[in-house]
Amino acid sequence: MKRVFRAASLIQVAHARNVLTAAGIDSELRNQYLAGALGDLPLWETWPQLWVEDPLEPAALRALERAATAPVGTPWTCSQCGELLEPQFTTCWRCGAAD
Ligand SMILES: [Zn+2]
Repeated sequence: MKRVFRAASLIQVAHARNVLTAAGIDSELRNQYLAGALGDLPLWETWPQLWVEDPLEPAALRALERAATAPVGTPWTCSQCGELLEPQFTTCWRCGAAD
């Protein structure tokens, strides 16, 4: 099996797993409860990880890359007028300033 994703936050890893599931790729979540338990390992080795069968690795990495470049679901604040904007907007609807 190949590791295709890891992050300090289980939420991020769970999200990545959803991305793979949506792409039809089975993945295995490892280290879900292990954080901090293995004192001799580098910290990132104890992070939650996603693993897939070897042949699925390229497709899994592509799916995760597509998800990473998709619009993120974070509201942003206009630097010109201070309006709080939904993530799907790239310019401020109030004053027209770009992000
Ligand atoms: Zn604005």
